[in-house]
Amino acid sequence: MVKFVFVTGGVLSSVGKGIVTSSIGKMLQVRGFKVTAIKIDPYVNVDAGTMNPYIHGEVYVTDDGGETDLDLGGYERFLNINLPKENNITTGQIYKAVINEERRGDFLGRCVQIVPHVTNEIKHRIRLIGERSKVDVVLTECGGTVGDIEGLPFLEAIRQMRLEEGFDNTLYAHVALVPILDFSGEMKTKPLQHSVNELRRIGIQPDTIVARCKKMIDSEALRKIALFGTIPENAVFCSYNVDFIYQVPLILDEQGMGEYICKRLRLENRKPQWGEWNQFVDSLKNPRFKVKIALVGKYAGLVDSYVSMNEAFRHAGATCQAQVLIDYIEAENLERDPSKLKLLKRYDGIFIPYGFGPRGTEGKMGAIRFARENDTPFLGICYGFQLAVVEFARNACELEEANSTEINPDTPHPVIDLMPEQRGVEYKGATMRLGAHKIIIKKETVAHRLYGAEEITERHRHRWEVNPDYWNVLEKHGLVFSGKSPDGRRMEILELPSKFFFFASQFHGEFKSRPGKPDPEYCGFVKACLDKKLENRNQNFEAKQ
Ligand code: GLN
Repeated sequence: MVKFVFVTGGVLSSVGKGIVTSSIGKMLQVRGFKVTAIKIDPYVNVDAGTMNPYIHGEVYVTDDGGETDLDLGGYERFLNINLPKENNITTGQIYKAVINEERRGDFLGRCVQIVPHVTNEIKHRIRLIGERSKVDVVLTECGGTVGDIEGLPFLEAIRQMRLEEGFDNTLYAHVALVPILDFSGEMKTKPLQHSVNELRRIGIQPDTIVARCKKMIDSEALRKIALFGTIPENAVFCSYNVDFIYQVPLILDEQGMGEYICKRLRLENRKPQWGEWNQFVDSLKNPRFKVKIALVGKYAGLVDSYVSMNEAFRHAGATCQAQVLIDYIEAENLERDPSKLKLLKRYDGIFIPYGFGPRGTEGKMGAIRFARENDTPFLGICYGFQLAVVEFARNACELEEANSTEINPDTPHPVIDLMPEQRGVEYKGATMRLGAHKIIIKKETVAHRLYGAEEITERHRHRWEVNPDYWNVLEKHGLVFSGKSPDGRRMEILELPSKFFFFASQFHGEFKSRPGKPDPEYCGFVKACLDKKLENRNQNFEAKQ
């Protein structure tokens, strides 16, 4: 019998529902239960692929090519599992399916309604995931905040599931903000109480409440939350501020949340095995070294645009015993004022992330050139890979005005061009080259050393690629394509062997990085930044002697 945990949010969005959902999953996992996690996004978009990362945060990519909400990345990282795209449910998908059925005539004669047709489709999907993934517990996080109009059908569906699946097999967890007043330091539970009332109005009585608060809630606040939430005091928990999100499952379990959930769902409360997780958290907390990285990007104003990359650096840092400090630099600022490029001297490494469109690309290429000419360790991902090719073509191969046709369709040297199969594509949704693809690695290269394999699989999300007409000239000038698609038609990794560390990939290593299992390209880069820093320090020291 599969059990279902539903997580709702109150007061504000962005209170960390995703982290609490992942943490509940982790608490169950370390007790030996198999879990999966679903994210419900009540927006009408079919998937997150068409959404601007600057507003909505990063688009996460799954193995099966789903372009999903970034919370799926959080689940994958916390739970060390690979999720299929069906684990991100949106209003757009639900309505699309129901309307298709209606057009097919499946409801012939009947009026198609939100209850029961839309809610049935929602429940059907949640249950199907439970069956297919063969887990003990399915976690479902409802995006947004209770009271949002667009979330109502989803809340109605999960309300019905209590009746259909039974009390012992369903659990509602509500996460809500408890603000602290600046002037009195008082913890205010009223907004949380209102959000619980809103949930009850819909017919859901939470079984547990997680107060999101800067500090551990005091006994007075806890008592009030229990009283007004109509739950026992031992079902109230607090997710307070911690240095690393990976500490959240530990602090919640310490408060007894894992035990409470097991009891409530009539699961055996096995002894939790936190060993590996604790080890990872300890290495994050006690770094021996520091490296400073410049991330030059287009979405630098919103850290959430680069969540998976940030986390990949954290995982790599933990493994290299280093704290990785990232400065987010708006590429357009370097473009407007190239004299600022010399400020990149302060960094141990330069990182160019993914991106789309022309804005800021000259600034990014300025930074790549700086890295190449000053032999600063460099890592480029996707657009970062493509722009490294353009920069190299222009400044090392004398191909003046070389460019990507994404930036200048009339460039005399289109070194980066649309993939042939992308030419006739009109629909923007889910039409890029997406998801996991194989890559063959060339022996005796940096890539081979980093991956320790001749074949790897990595996740992709792009429309452009290196133009085959320019492979030769690029290689003749010293660029090595050390990773290619199995048919040899697609360049996947580049490196410059003459440099200390100059590496870029068409794929996104960050999507597969996990705590304790860092991604090889991020890890190689962080390690190179450390080594180079040490080398520079030794040289300076010798020079002074
Ligand atoms: N804009 C580029 C492309 O579509 C790179 C995409 C990316 O960085 N994810 O190919």
